[in-house]
Amino acid sequence: MALTVPAASASGGRVLPLALLKPAVPAAPAIHEQPATWSFTNIETGETLAVTCMPGCESEHQAGTAQIPVDVWCQTYRGGDVALPVDRTGKPEETRLLAASINALPFDAQMSRRLPHVNVEVIDGAWLTGLDPDALEDVIDTLEERVAALREAHAELLRVRAAHKATR
Ligand SMILES: [Zn+2]
Repeated sequence: MALTVPAASASGGRVLPLALLKPAVPAAPAIHEQPATWSFTNIETGETLAVTCMPGCESEHQAGTAQIPVDVWCQTYRGGDVALPVDRTGKPEETRLLAASINALPFDAQMSRRLPHVNVEVIDGAWLTGLDPDALEDVIDTLEERVAALREAHAELLRVRAAHKATR
C-alpha cells in the first residue's frame, strides 16, 4: 500500500523562514518607571529608613520590618540560565555561565555599589562584580574577541577534519 502525503501541510507546503521556527524569545520584563518607595527599621539604631527601589527592581523586600541596611539589595535578572556541559571533575556537568543581573545596594559602604551596576556570573559561582557601563563594555568586547577566536577555531577544525579525512 502506497503512503499518501498530505497535499498541504500546516505551512501550506512552503518552507517557513528559519526565524519563524525558532522559539519566541521572552520579552524583557517591563521596567516600572515610577520607582517603588518603602521603609524599614534599621535593626542597629531603631531609625526608620526610606528606600526608593532601583527602576525595574525585582527583589522581594521585607518592607516594614527591622533589617540591617547593607542587606537591602535591589536586583533585576538578565540573561537567564544558559548552561554548557563543563568538565571540571572528569565528568561533564551542566554548568551555568554568563548570567547577568543589575544591582543597586542603597546603603552599601562603597558608593559605586549604591549606583546600578552589573554582576556577571562568568561560570557557576565565579563572578565579575560591580561593573559600571564602561567596565561592562570592556567585558563584552573581551567576550566578542573570544567568540571571534572560537569562530576561527571552528573554521580551522573544519579544514583540519577535511584534510584528515582525505588522508584515510
Ligand atoms: Zn528594590
